[in-house]
Amino acid sequence: MIAPAALSATGTAHDMDTALNDELQALQRAGLRRTLRQVHQRRAGTVLLQGERIADFASNDYLGLAADPRLARAASAVLQAEGVGAGAARLISGNHPIHEVLERTLARWKGTEQALLFPSGYMANIGTIPALVGVGDVIYSDALCHASLIDGCRLSKATIRVFPHADLDALTTMLEADRHLFRRALIVVEGVFSMDGDLFPLDQLVPLARRFDAWSYVDDAHGTGVLGETGSGAVEQLGMTGQVDVLVGTLGKALGTAGAYVAGSRVLVDFLTNRARSFIFTTGAPAALAASTLEALRITHEEPWRRDAVRARATRLREYLRESGREIPGMHDGHIIPIVVGDPHDTMRVVAELRHRGFLVGGVRPPTVPAGTSRLRLSVSAVHPMELVNSLAANLIDVLRGIPL
Ligand SMILES: *Cc1c(COP(=O)(O)O)cnc(C)c1O
Repeated sequence: MIAPAALSATGTAHDMDTALNDELQALQRAGLRRTLRQVHQRRAGTVLLQGERIADFASNDYLGLAADPRLARAASAVLQAEGVGAGAARLISGNHPIHEVLERTLARWKGTEQALLFPSGYMANIGTIPALVGVGDVIYSDALCHASLIDGCRLSKATIRVFPHADLDALTTMLEADRHLFRRALIVVEGVFSMDGDLFPLDQLVPLARRFDAWSYVDDAHGTGVLGETGSGAVEQLGMTGQVDVLVGTLGKALGTAGAYVAGSRVLVDFLTNRARSFIFTTGAPAALAASTLEALRITHEEPWRRDAVRARATRLREYLRESGREIPGMHDGHIIPIVVGDPHDTMRVVAELRHRGFLVGGVRPPTVPAGTSRLRLSVSAVHPMELVNSLAANLIDVLRGIPL
Protein backbone atom coordinates (compact mmCIF):
# COMPACT_ATOMS: atom_id res chain seq x y z
CA MET A 1 0.00 0.00 0.00
CA ILE A 2 1.20 3.48 -0.82
CA ALA A 3 0.55 6.05 1.88
CA PRO A 4 -2.23 8.46 0.78
CA ALA A 5 0.07 11.46 1.33
CA ALA A 6 2.49 10.16 -1.35
CA LEU A 7 -0.37 10.09 -3.86
CA SER A 8 -1.34 13.74 -3.48
CA ALA A 9 -0.56 15.71 -6.59
CA THR A 10 1.55 18.33 -4.85
CA GLY A 11 3.37 15.73 -2.72
CA THR A 12 4.58 13.61 -5.65
CA ALA A 13 5.38 16.64 -7.79
CA HIS A 14 7.46 18.05 -4.97
CA ASP A 15 9.43 14.80 -4.60
CA MET A 16 10.01 14.60 -8.33
CA ASP A 17 11.17 18.21 -8.57
CA THR A 18 13.61 17.71 -5.69
CA ALA A 19 15.14 14.65 -7.33
CA LEU A 20 15.37 16.30 -10.74
CA ASN A 21 16.71 19.53 -9.33
CA ASP A 22 19.57 17.61 -7.67
CA GLU A 23 20.55 16.29 -11.08
CA LEU A 24 20.30 19.73 -12.67
CA GLN A 25 22.60 21.14 -9.98
CA ALA A 26 25.12 18.38 -10.70
CA LEU A 27 25.02 19.29 -14.41
CA GLN A 28 25.51 22.93 -13.47
CA ARG A 29 28.61 22.14 -11.38
CA ALA A 30 30.07 20.04 -14.22
CA GLY A 31 29.56 22.91 -16.69
CA LEU A 32 27.05 20.81 -18.64
CA ARG A 33 23.74 22.57 -17.92
CA ARG A 34 21.86 23.56 -21.06
CA THR A 35 19.20 26.24 -21.45
CA LEU A 36 17.13 27.56 -24.33
CA ARG A 37 17.70 30.97 -25.88
CA GLN A 38 15.27 32.80 -28.14
CA VAL A 39 16.45 33.23 -31.71
CA HIS A 40 14.49 34.84 -34.52
CA GLN A 41 14.64 36.93 -37.71
CA ARG A 42 17.40 34.98 -39.40
CA ARG A 43 18.93 36.97 -42.27
CA ALA A 44 22.27 37.18 -44.09
CA GLY A 45 24.06 34.96 -41.60
CA THR A 46 22.80 36.90 -38.58
CA VAL A 47 19.96 36.35 -36.09
CA LEU A 48 18.25 38.24 -33.30
CA LEU A 49 19.40 36.52 -30.10
CA GLN A 50 17.36 37.60 -27.08
CA GLY A 51 16.58 40.76 -29.04
CA GLU A 52 20.15 41.55 -30.09
CA ARG A 53 21.47 41.11 -33.66
CA ILE A 54 24.43 38.74 -33.73
CA ALA A 55 26.43 36.92 -36.44
CA ASP A 56 25.38 33.25 -36.41
CA PHE A 57 28.27 30.84 -36.87
CA ALA A 58 26.46 28.09 -34.96
CA SER A 59 23.74 27.04 -37.39
CA ASN A 60 23.59 24.24 -39.95
CA ASP A 61 22.04 26.60 -42.52
CA TYR A 62 25.07 26.08 -44.75
CA LEU A 63 23.52 27.33 -48.00
CA GLY A 64 21.63 30.20 -46.38
CA LEU A 65 18.26 28.81 -47.47
CA ALA A 66 16.42 28.62 -44.13
CA ALA A 67 15.19 32.21 -44.38
CA ASP A 68 15.12 32.45 -48.19
CA PRO A 69 11.79 34.11 -49.13
CA ARG A 70 11.42 31.78 -52.14
CA LEU A 71 11.08 28.81 -49.76
CA ALA A 72 8.49 30.69 -47.75
CA ARG A 73 6.56 31.60 -50.92
CA ALA A 74 6.55 27.99 -52.13
CA ALA A 75 5.21 26.85 -48.76
CA SER A 76 2.69 29.68 -48.67
CA ALA A 77 1.16 28.81 -52.04
CA VAL A 78 0.55 25.22 -50.94
CA LEU A 79 -0.66 26.34 -47.51
CA GLN A 80 -3.34 28.47 -49.16
CA ALA A 81 -4.49 25.60 -51.37
CA GLU A 82 -4.12 22.63 -49.02
CA GLY A 83 -4.17 23.93 -45.45
CA VAL A 84 -1.58 22.95 -42.87
CA GLY A 85 -2.03 19.44 -41.55
CA ALA A 86 -1.69 16.15 -43.44
CA GLY A 87 -4.46 14.87 -41.18
CA ALA A 88 -3.09 11.37 -40.65
CA ALA A 89 -0.12 9.08 -41.08
CA ARG A 90 0.91 8.64 -44.71
CA LEU A 91 -0.27 5.02 -44.78
CA ILE A 92 -3.75 6.07 -43.57
CA SER A 93 -4.93 9.23 -45.37
CA GLY A 94 -1.98 11.62 -45.07
CA ASN A 95 -0.07 10.83 -48.28
CA HIS A 96 -0.21 13.96 -50.44
CA PRO A 97 1.03 13.62 -54.05
CA ILE A 98 3.70 16.25 -53.36
CA HIS A 99 5.34 13.89 -50.83
CA GLU A 100 5.88 11.41 -53.64
CA VAL A 101 7.16 14.10 -56.01
CA LEU A 102 9.70 15.09 -53.34
CA GLU A 103 10.72 11.46 -52.76
CA ARG A 104 11.31 10.92 -56.49
CA THR A 105 13.29 14.16 -56.72
CA LEU A 106 15.46 13.21 -53.74
CA ALA A 107 16.07 9.71 -55.17
CA ARG A 108 17.20 11.17 -58.51
CA TRP A 109 19.57 13.57 -56.73
CA LYS A 110 20.99 10.77 -54.59
CA GLY A 111 21.28 8.36 -57.52
CA THR A 112 19.07 5.71 -55.90
CA GLU A 113 15.87 3.97 -57.05
CA GLN A 114 13.66 5.42 -54.33
CA ALA A 115 13.52 7.52 -51.19
CA LEU A 116 11.22 7.63 -48.16
CA LEU A 117 10.48 10.77 -46.14
CA PHE A 118 10.62 10.83 -42.33
CA PRO A 119 9.57 13.71 -40.07
CA SER A 120 13.17 14.21 -38.89
CA GLY A 121 16.65 12.73 -39.10
CA TYR A 122 16.32 11.50 -35.54
CA MET A 123 13.20 9.57 -36.50
CA ALA A 124 14.75 8.25 -39.73
CA ASN A 125 17.58 6.66 -37.77
CA ILE A 126 15.60 5.28 -34.84
CA GLY A 127 13.07 3.78 -37.26
CA THR A 128 15.33 2.44 -39.99
CA ILE A 129 18.10 0.71 -38.04
CA PRO A 130 15.74 -1.42 -35.89
CA ALA A 131 13.76 -2.31 -39.03
CA LEU A 132 16.89 -3.70 -40.68
CA VAL A 133 18.62 -5.57 -37.85
CA GLY A 134 17.68 -7.20 -34.55
CA VAL A 135 18.58 -9.99 -32.14
CA GLY A 136 21.13 -12.31 -33.76
CA ASP A 137 22.49 -9.52 -36.00
CA VAL A 138 25.48 -7.24 -35.50
CA ILE A 139 26.07 -3.51 -35.99
CA TYR A 140 29.55 -2.04 -36.44
CA SER A 141 29.26 1.64 -35.56
CA ASP A 142 31.77 4.50 -35.77
CA ALA A 143 32.67 5.83 -32.31
CA LEU A 144 31.60 9.38 -33.22
CA CYS A 145 28.15 8.57 -34.59
CA HIS A 146 25.29 10.99 -33.84
CA ALA A 147 22.99 10.28 -30.88
CA SER A 148 20.12 9.34 -33.21
CA LEU A 149 22.28 6.59 -34.75
CA ILE A 150 23.32 5.36 -31.31
CA ASP A 151 19.70 5.29 -30.19
CA GLY A 152 18.65 3.47 -33.37
CA CYS A 153 21.35 0.86 -32.75
CA ARG A 154 20.27 0.38 -29.13
CA LEU A 155 16.58 0.11 -30.05
CA SER A 156 17.38 -2.61 -32.58
CA LYS A 157 18.60 -5.06 -29.90
CA ALA A 158 21.33 -6.19 -32.30
CA THR A 159 24.84 -6.75 -30.91
CA ILE A 160 26.75 -3.46 -31.16
CA ARG A 161 30.46 -3.19 -31.90
CA VAL A 162 31.94 0.32 -31.81
CA PHE A 163 35.09 0.92 -33.85
CA PRO A 164 37.50 3.87 -33.36
CA HIS A 165 36.52 6.89 -35.45
CA ALA A 166 37.09 6.33 -39.21
CA ASP A 167 39.58 3.52 -38.47
CA LEU A 168 39.08 1.01 -41.29
CA ASP A 169 41.88 -1.25 -40.06
CA ALA A 170 40.19 -1.62 -36.69
CA LEU A 171 36.85 -2.22 -38.42
CA THR A 172 38.41 -4.90 -40.63
CA THR A 173 39.86 -6.65 -37.58
CA MET A 174 36.44 -6.63 -35.90
CA LEU A 175 34.71 -7.98 -39.00
CA GLU A 176 37.29 -10.76 -39.28
CA ALA A 177 36.86 -11.61 -35.61
CA ASP A 178 33.11 -12.05 -35.38
CA ARG A 179 31.09 -11.18 -38.47
CA HIS A 180 30.56 -14.91 -39.07
CA LEU A 181 28.82 -15.35 -35.71
CA PHE A 182 25.82 -13.26 -36.78
CA ARG A 183 23.05 -13.35 -39.37
CA ARG A 184 22.99 -9.78 -40.75
CA ALA A 185 25.68 -7.14 -40.33
CA LEU A 186 25.18 -3.37 -40.68
CA ILE A 187 28.03 -0.85 -40.76
CA VAL A 188 26.82 2.55 -39.53
CA VAL A 189 28.75 5.76 -40.25
CA GLU A 190 28.23 9.41 -41.11
CA GLY A 191 29.25 10.96 -44.44
CA VAL A 192 30.57 14.14 -42.86
CA PHE A 193 30.85 13.85 -39.08
CA SER A 194 28.77 16.47 -37.35
CA MET A 195 31.22 17.43 -34.60
CA ASP A 196 34.61 16.83 -36.30
CA GLY A 197 33.69 17.91 -39.82
CA ASP A 198 35.72 15.13 -41.45
CA LEU A 199 34.70 12.78 -44.27
CA PHE A 200 34.38 9.04 -43.74
CA PRO A 201 36.36 7.12 -46.42
CA LEU A 202 33.20 5.73 -48.05
CA ASP A 203 35.16 4.65 -51.12
CA GLN A 204 36.93 2.10 -48.91
CA LEU A 205 33.92 1.30 -46.75
CA VAL A 206 31.69 0.00 -49.57
CA PRO A 207 34.12 -2.71 -50.84
CA LEU A 208 34.91 -3.70 -47.24
CA ALA A 209 31.23 -4.09 -46.43
CA ARG A 210 30.72 -6.24 -49.54
CA ARG A 211 33.72 -8.41 -48.70
CA PHE A 212 32.16 -9.28 -45.34
CA ASP A 213 28.56 -9.52 -46.55
CA ALA A 214 27.65 -6.46 -44.48
CA TRP A 215 25.25 -3.63 -45.41
CA SER A 216 26.49 -0.05 -45.52
CA TYR A 217 24.45 2.65 -43.70
CA VAL A 218 25.53 6.25 -44.22
CA ASP A 219 23.94 9.26 -42.51
CA ASP A 220 24.98 12.27 -44.58
CA ALA A 221 23.09 14.94 -42.65
CA HIS A 222 25.96 17.43 -42.97
CA GLY A 223 27.30 16.64 -46.46
CA THR A 224 23.91 16.85 -48.18
CA GLY A 225 23.57 20.08 -50.17
CA VAL A 226 27.20 21.07 -49.69
CA LEU A 227 29.53 18.37 -51.02
CA GLY A 228 29.87 16.83 -54.47
CA GLU A 229 29.44 18.19 -57.98
CA THR A 230 25.65 18.57 -57.67
CA GLY A 231 25.61 19.01 -53.89
CA SER A 232 24.28 15.48 -53.46
CA GLY A 233 26.75 14.95 -50.62
CA ALA A 234 29.71 12.97 -49.35
CA VAL A 235 28.78 9.87 -51.38
CA GLU A 236 28.91 11.86 -54.62
CA GLN A 237 32.12 13.61 -53.56
CA LEU A 238 33.83 10.24 -53.08
CA GLY A 239 32.51 8.81 -56.35
CA MET A 240 30.27 6.23 -54.67
CA THR A 241 26.86 7.32 -55.98
CA GLY A 242 24.40 4.42 -56.01
CA GLN A 243 26.72 2.10 -54.09
CA VAL A 244 25.69 2.71 -50.48
CA ASP A 245 22.92 0.36 -49.30
CA VAL A 246 21.13 2.78 -46.96
CA LEU A 247 21.66 6.53 -47.39
CA VAL A 248 20.09 8.91 -44.88
CA GLY A 249 19.95 12.66 -45.33
CA THR A 250 18.25 15.51 -43.52
CA LEU A 251 16.34 18.49 -44.86
CA GLY A 252 16.74 20.81 -41.87
CA LYS A 253 20.41 21.59 -42.43
CA ALA A 254 21.75 22.78 -45.82
CA LEU A 255 18.30 22.54 -47.42
CA GLY A 256 16.86 24.93 -44.86
CA THR A 257 13.50 23.22 -44.20
CA ALA A 258 12.78 20.23 -41.92
CA GLY A 259 12.50 16.47 -42.17
CA ALA A 260 14.68 13.68 -43.50
CA TYR A 261 14.73 10.76 -45.94
CA VAL A 262 16.19 7.33 -46.46
CA ALA A 263 17.35 6.72 -50.04
CA GLY A 264 18.08 3.28 -51.48
CA SER A 265 16.58 0.50 -53.55
CA ARG A 266 12.87 0.19 -54.33
CA VAL A 267 12.76 -2.90 -52.11
CA LEU A 268 14.40 -1.08 -49.19
CA VAL A 269 11.83 1.72 -49.37
CA ASP A 270 8.94 -0.76 -49.71
CA PHE A 271 10.31 -2.65 -46.70
CA LEU A 272 10.70 0.48 -44.56
CA THR A 273 7.18 1.60 -45.50
CA ASN A 274 6.04 -1.65 -43.87
CA ARG A 275 8.52 -1.95 -41.02
CA ALA A 276 9.96 1.41 -39.87
CA ARG A 277 7.82 2.27 -36.85
CA SER A 278 8.79 5.96 -36.85
CA PHE A 279 7.44 6.20 -40.40
CA ILE A 280 4.29 4.13 -39.90
CA PHE A 281 3.08 5.55 -36.60
CA THR A 282 3.49 9.27 -37.19
CA THR A 283 1.51 11.97 -38.96
CA GLY A 284 2.59 12.91 -42.47
CA ALA A 285 4.50 16.18 -42.81
CA PRO A 286 2.56 19.22 -44.07
CA ALA A 287 2.38 19.28 -47.88
CA ALA A 288 3.58 22.90 -47.69
CA LEU A 289 6.83 21.73 -46.10
CA ALA A 290 7.44 19.34 -49.00
CA ALA A 291 6.76 22.22 -51.41
CA SER A 292 9.40 24.39 -49.75
CA THR A 293 11.90 21.52 -49.79
CA LEU A 294 11.31 21.07 -53.53
CA GLU A 295 12.03 24.79 -53.95
CA ALA A 296 15.22 24.39 -51.88
CA LEU A 297 16.33 21.54 -54.15
CA ARG A 298 15.64 23.66 -57.24
CA ILE A 299 17.74 26.52 -55.82
CA THR A 300 20.52 24.15 -54.77
CA HIS A 301 20.64 22.89 -58.34
CA GLU A 302 20.43 26.29 -60.06
CA GLU A 303 22.72 28.25 -57.72
CA PRO A 304 25.93 26.23 -57.43
CA TRP A 305 27.67 29.46 -56.29
CA ARG A 306 26.26 28.74 -52.85
CA ARG A 307 28.41 25.61 -52.49
CA ASP A 308 31.47 27.51 -53.72
CA ALA A 309 30.75 30.32 -51.26
CA VAL A 310 30.58 27.87 -48.34
CA ARG A 311 33.96 26.39 -49.31
CA ALA A 312 35.57 29.82 -49.82
CA ARG A 313 34.45 30.95 -46.35
CA ALA A 314 35.54 27.72 -44.70
CA THR A 315 38.95 27.90 -46.39
CA ARG A 316 39.45 31.51 -45.29
CA LEU A 317 38.53 30.82 -41.66
CA ARG A 318 40.66 27.68 -41.50
CA GLU A 319 43.66 29.51 -43.00
CA TYR A 320 43.44 32.25 -40.39
CA LEU A 321 43.25 29.75 -37.56
CA ARG A 322 46.14 27.70 -38.90
CA GLU A 323 48.27 30.84 -39.18
CA SER A 324 47.58 31.49 -35.51
CA GLY A 325 49.07 28.08 -34.73
CA ARG A 326 45.88 26.03 -34.27
CA GLU A 327 45.60 22.64 -35.93
CA ILE A 328 42.07 22.31 -37.26
CA PRO A 329 40.87 18.79 -38.10
CA GLY A 330 38.83 17.83 -41.15
CA MET A 331 39.00 18.82 -44.81
CA HIS A 332 40.96 21.98 -45.73
CA ASP A 333 37.71 23.50 -47.01
CA GLY A 334 35.34 21.70 -44.61
CA HIS A 335 32.36 23.81 -43.59
CA ILE A 336 32.28 22.45 -40.02
CA ILE A 337 35.21 23.86 -38.08
CA PRO A 338 35.92 22.28 -34.69
CA ILE A 339 38.28 23.99 -32.24
CA VAL A 340 38.94 21.62 -29.35
CA VAL A 341 39.32 23.49 -26.04
CA GLY A 342 39.06 20.46 -23.73
CA ASP A 343 37.45 21.72 -20.56
CA PRO A 344 33.70 22.44 -20.73
CA HIS A 345 33.93 25.53 -18.46
CA ASP A 346 36.72 27.04 -20.61
CA THR A 347 34.73 26.23 -23.74
CA MET A 348 31.65 28.06 -22.49
CA ARG A 349 33.76 31.03 -21.37
CA VAL A 350 35.08 31.42 -24.91
CA VAL A 351 31.53 31.10 -26.28
CA ALA A 352 30.33 33.81 -23.86
CA GLU A 353 33.17 36.20 -24.76
CA LEU A 354 32.53 35.74 -28.49
CA ARG A 355 28.84 36.35 -27.92
CA HIS A 356 29.74 39.55 -26.10
CA ARG A 357 31.68 40.57 -29.22
CA GLY A 358 28.74 39.83 -31.52
CA PHE A 359 29.42 36.26 -32.68
CA LEU A 360 27.33 33.22 -31.92
CA VAL A 361 29.36 29.98 -32.09
CA GLY A 362 28.49 26.51 -30.84
CA GLY A 363 29.91 25.29 -27.54
CA VAL A 364 29.79 21.50 -27.66
CA ARG A 365 30.19 19.49 -24.47
CA PRO A 366 29.66 15.89 -23.35
CA PRO A 367 27.56 13.88 -23.98
CA THR A 368 27.50 15.34 -27.51
CA VAL A 369 31.30 14.82 -27.72
CA PRO A 370 33.61 12.57 -25.62
CA ALA A 371 34.74 13.88 -22.20
CA GLY A 372 37.86 16.07 -22.39
CA THR A 373 37.12 17.16 -25.97
CA SER A 374 34.70 20.03 -25.35
CA ARG A 375 34.99 22.33 -28.29
CA LEU A 376 33.83 25.31 -30.24
CA ARG A 377 31.93 24.28 -33.32
CA LEU A 378 31.92 26.92 -36.02
CA SER A 379 30.01 26.52 -39.24
CA VAL A 380 30.01 28.82 -42.19
CA SER A 381 27.14 29.73 -44.47
CA ALA A 382 27.09 30.84 -48.11
CA VAL A 383 25.38 34.05 -47.00
CA HIS A 384 27.98 35.14 -44.43
CA PRO A 385 29.57 38.33 -45.81
CA MET A 386 33.33 37.71 -46.17
CA GLU A 387 34.08 40.72 -43.91
CA LEU A 388 32.09 39.02 -41.18
CA VAL A 389 34.23 35.89 -41.56
CA ASN A 390 37.40 37.99 -41.33
CA SER A 391 36.11 39.77 -38.26
CA LEU A 392 35.15 36.48 -36.59
CA ALA A 393 38.64 35.10 -37.24
CA ALA A 394 40.35 38.13 -35.68
CA ASN A 395 38.12 38.04 -32.59
CA LEU A 396 38.42 34.29 -32.25
CA ILE A 397 42.21 34.35 -32.32
CA ASP A 398 42.19 37.14 -29.76
CA VAL A 399 39.85 35.32 -27.38
CA LEU A 400 41.66 31.99 -27.78
CA ARG A 401 44.98 33.56 -26.86
CA GLY A 402 44.31 32.71 -23.21
CA ILE A 403 43.55 29.05 -24.00
CA PRO A 404 46.50 26.66 -24.41
CA LEU A 405 46.84 24.99 -27.82
C1 LIG B 1 21.27 16.64 -37.20
C2 LIG B 1 21.51 15.19 -37.38
C3 LIG B 1 20.46 14.27 -37.31
C4 LIG B 1 19.08 14.66 -36.86
O1 LIG B 1 18.37 15.26 -37.89
P1 LIG B 1 17.06 16.09 -37.52
O2 LIG B 1 16.33 16.20 -38.81
O3 LIG B 1 17.52 17.39 -36.96
O4 LIG B 1 16.31 15.27 -36.50
C5 LIG B 1 20.72 12.95 -37.60
N1 LIG B 1 21.96 12.54 -37.91
C6 LIG B 1 23.00 13.39 -37.95
C7 LIG B 1 24.35 12.89 -38.31
C8 LIG B 1 22.81 14.74 -37.68
O5 LIG B 1 23.83 15.59 -37.69
